[in-house]
Amino acid sequence: MTRVYRYKVCSRSFQISPLSFSLVFHADLIGIMPEASTKEDVIIVGSGIAGCVLAARLHEKNKDPKILVIEAGKDVSNHPLTSSPFACFTAHYSELDWAYSTIPQLHLGNRACYAAAGKGLSGEGATNYGTWIRGNATDYKLWAKQVDDSQWSYDALLPYFRKTEIFRGDSEEPDATVHGLNGPVHNYSISASSASRKSPLQDHLRTAWTPIGVQEIADGNSGSPLGLSELVENWHNSQRQLVSQAYPLSGVEVMTEELVRRVILEERNGKIIATGVELASGAPISASKEIIISAGAYRTPQVFMLSGIGPEEELEKHGISVLVSSPVGKEFHDHHPVCQWWKLRHPDLHPSAGSPKW
Ligand SMILES: Cc1cc2nc3c(=O)[nH]c(=O)nc-3n(C[C@H](O)[C@H](O)[C@H](O)COP(=O)(O)OP(=O)(O)OC[C@H]3O[C@@H](n4cnc5c(N)ncnc54)[C@H](O)[C@@H]3O)c2cc1C
Repeated sequence: MTRVYRYKVCSRSFQISPLSFSLVFHADLIGIMPEASTKEDVIIVGSGIAGCVLAARLHEKNKDPKILVIEAGKDVSNHPLTSSPFACFTAHYSELDWAYSTIPQLHLGNRACYAAAGKGLSGEGATNYGTWIRGNATDYKLWAKQVDDSQWSYDALLPYFRKTEIFRGDSEEPDATVHGLNGPVHNYSISASSASRKSPLQDHLRTAWTPIGVQEIADGNSGSPLGLSELVENWHNSQRQLVSQAYPLSGVEVMTEELVRRVILEERNGKIIATGVELASGAPISASKEIIISAGAYRTPQVFMLSGIGPEEELEKHGISVLVSSPVGKEFHDHHPVCQWWKLRHPDLHPSAGSPKW
């Protein structure tokens, strides 16, 4: 069933947030042709963390363009698996999970591994583990260098990191040059969330790791995360903060339980133009300004390739005509959790699940 939320929208020029991990079709990349008769101005495919933030921020910046978000999964706002911290583990293999499997992994004895990927309004943000870890400034620097765009450097992204968060760490007053204090997403270090969550293992870990050079760092989310520091989480009042709620989609049209099959590309005056998307049902939806594919690390390249954008040999294998030859989908990485479970010798001393201190 498709649920469509309609709200009023309103202005003209707008910008894409550099924080989005999405691929955008626009004039520079492929060419998009404004058409007076089209229904939507902007179509966003996939309502995960990138899709929801983009939709909300585009609308906040300029209320004129009609924005449509299309999501393959359900609206999971009140779903029991999206609420409490431990529900995320039971979300694996549930209806909120695409539940992929990797190809056999050479270095894992040719085992294929489970690969989780969220499916629903808020995407993987509805089922992930809720830890809040800012990347290493050096990685952002290299990233900016690789794409030759300083907007991806740590310094250029810092205002957006700050804009996102309401940070509560151990100190009374967090450093406002590093952390946001008024954003939509609450973040707490473990001890700021509850002083009683201190595990007796912390001191043993410190004693074990310090002599081998693992230094304690006061703030692991300040651009230098290598070392030993308290985990920061984005659970608020023991509840998940869904991205679709932290970044409200009022003013944006949202279509759930609709899979986008491909972007419709047309050749005009020697240029390939993206004019809309086609749903799995075959129904076309046109867009006059932008089509943004934010369908996650696995499915964004899939949508591209189904549209005829990708490596020639791969598309030809599947009988897809090549419209734009591009190394789409190569060398991408996604989050593969490798969990280790330890049996505690004295579980009663720890605030761990099932113990009296929990
Ligand atoms: C098990 C697990 C635990 C994680 N834990 C953490 C954590 O603790 N902290 C952290 O920061 N990160 C964590 N991550 C990573 C984080 O959740 C992802 O990096 C993030 O959600 C990616 O956002 P996204 O918007 O790119 O994609 P997603 O959030 O995956 O959203 C993509 C959306 O697009 C939809 N979609 C896909 N194809 C189509 C289509 N053709 N048509 C319409 N809709 C489509 C999908 O259904 C999905 O809703 C975790 C990831 C996993 C897998």
